[in-house]
Amino acid sequence: MNGLKYSARALRELFFPRVCPVCGEKLEVEEPFLCGKCLEDIPFTWTWAWPENPVEERMWKRVGIVAGASLFFYRKEGGYGELVRKIKYGGDAALGRWLGRELGRRMAGSGRFSEVQAVVPVPLHPLRRWRRGYNQAEIIAQGIAAGLGGLKVEKHLLRRRKYTRTQTKLTTEGRSANVKDAFAVNPRTAARLSREGILNILVVDDVLTSGATLSEAVKPLLPAFAVSVATAGLVE
Ligand SMILES: [Zn+2]
Repeated sequence: MNGLKYSARALRELFFPRVCPVCGEKLEVEEPFLCGKCLEDIPFTWTWAWPENPVEERMWKRVGIVAGASLFFYRKEGGYGELVRKIKYGGDAALGRWLGRELGRRMAGSGRFSEVQAVVPVPLHPLRRWRRGYNQAEIIAQGIAAGLGGLKVEKHLLRRRKYTRTQTKLTTEGRSANVKDAFAVNPRTAARLSREGILNILVVDDVLTSGATLSEAVKPLLPAFAVSVATAGLVE
């Protein structure tokens, strides 16, 4: 960082102090998203390098994917879950892209995702997307696509046709019923991808909990595509 940029940031810190979303400590100027300690302690899942990992097992109970990976483990209250909440409810796009890139780089390095040709975010219902102003899965997908070496994000391949209640307060069974048949494939985008020879795609969401939402998003794609999945967080 050059001197002038550093001073400008230092000045901004003075008036708008930022805190580490994980531990709540004040961030230093050179710490962009997390404090040094929380950065060092990220509970990585290592699922990108690990065949038959918990992401894949959770998905295989519901749907046939090729491979799956998540960046970090978290519990619902506090701690690293705060990273997901900052992206989902705070719209922190820089944080979302950074986490996505961190995961994408590791997935690329593992060689387990080398067939993937395009990245597809799990869409929000258009009404929810309009009210929120962004789709957190799309932000993370952009980072992953960059980390995988600059793949294209195909945000129109899937569409959400059901306005579903938020999954947060539902049981596992409730979640499955709530999202059943919620997604459909956009035939025009699917036809274009097929013309371009794109057969292997990666479907991205912010977190994997029971796998109910992600598996419903994968299902309509399976007749035409080989599908892998990735999420930033993996709920323990
Ligand atoms: Zn911290």
